[in-house]
Amino acid sequence: MAGSGWAPPRLDEFILTERLGTGTYATVYKAYRKRDTREVVAIKCVSKRSLNRASVENLLTEIEILKTIRHPHIVELKDFQWDSDHIYLIMEFCAGGDLSRFIRMRRILPEKVARVFLQQLACALKFLHDHNISHLDLKPQNILLSAPEHPQLKLADFGFAQYMSPWDEKHVLRGSPLYMAPEMVCRQQYDARVDLWSVGVILYEALFGRPPFASRSFTELEEKIRSDRAVETDLVVEAVKKDQEGDASAALSLYCKALEYFVPALHYESDARRKEAIRAKVGQYISRAEELKALVTSSSKNLLQRENPARELLREMAKDKPRLCAALEMASAAIAKEEEGKDDADTLELYQQSLGELLLLLAAEPAGRRRELLHAEIQTLMSRAEYLKEQMKMREAQSMGKEALAEPVRSTCTLQ
Ligand code: ADP
Ligand code: MG
Repeated sequence: MAGSGWAPPRLDEFILTERLGTGTYATVYKAYRKRDTREVVAIKCVSKRSLNRASVENLLTEIEILKTIRHPHIVELKDFQWDSDHIYLIMEFCAGGDLSRFIRMRRILPEKVARVFLQQLACALKFLHDHNISHLDLKPQNILLSAPEHPQLKLADFGFAQYMSPWDEKHVLRGSPLYMAPEMVCRQQYDARVDLWSVGVILYEALFGRPPFASRSFTELEEKIRSDRAVETDLVVEAVKKDQEGDASAALSLYCKALEYFVPALHYESDARRKEAIRAKVGQYISRAEELKALVTSSSKNLLQRENPARELLREMAKDKPRLCAALEMASAAIAKEEEGKDDADTLELYQQSLGELLLLLAAEPAGRRRELLHAEIQTLMSRAEYLKEQMKMREAQSMGKEALAEPVRSTCTLQ
């Protein structure tokens, strides 16, 4: 058993060190080759005792497959060995851990990162499918990262993969339910295309931090997949909550973020009925966002215009420092420009310039009252600049939304 008291198995040529992970039927260790280069590898140890006949077959398939293929986005199997108790797969070590941990540590991945990962995953799958191999157990735990910095994806754990022609139909239930295609979950016939479903689920999890059909039971999962209810985004749920709580600026920002997702969804939806439903939602979010924007803008103006004695004091104390004076002057110009409410891009530029100066001066400023005031002023200016940036982004999202709403309704696409 792979419990805490369980010592790693011994191999003549390797020194096994930390445990990297435990999966369905194996424990994976980091290891060093004793001789020569002290090459770092990952060794997947499968206890023969834990294997029934089906698992032996799965493992042999894995070895067979991995031995013959070489691809930049597929974990390399360097070698394999066995002794009386274990079978060992000696693999390329992936220092970045698995995608599941990678997503959890960051909560969600930026679209830019998710896009590159998807490209790499697609590249590996294309290669596999060209060789008539289906993975059948695609999930974040089985996708590894080459390194913590600038990671490359590496597809791993071919325990379930089978040589199969793309249209072969299998009847066995394999893989992990959360990532499984409906035809698999419902125990009907399926084929190589199930991997594509899993890719969709993985992409969703990368962007939203949890799989689209997160469920606590098999029945709940099946019910969720079968229902044709649109997958509600957390963003909208959060936005409505903040709105009800009266936090207008948080709600506004969440609505705008949600719009960023709904606008492409509206664009790509090919089913006329669903497109109409999304269009109605987008319209609703836009008008609420506009109301909120009016609210937020007027309250923020009040805040700006209020007298600021601390700012006056700081100016007074800066009189003998021409550089500080000039930087504060620039900051006032930015605030004045913001009050005018004209060219946001220019205003932002001015804020950023003055902040650059002020931060340099802060670094050289000795401790004392002036430093405290300067510090506070910098924080105010930073949040002004952030707010302005958000405003610009929101305007962009809103105009994108309006453009999308103006698009004519296309009829349902048919493929043939
Ligand atoms: P199982 O078939 O038991 O699911 P996996 O091959 O998926 O085994 O490995 C289990 C876990 O071990 C993975 O989710 C990953 O966290 C870790 N792991 C597996 N292979 C490597 C590797 N080559 N480099 C780094 N970590 C690995
Ligand atoms: Mg696994």
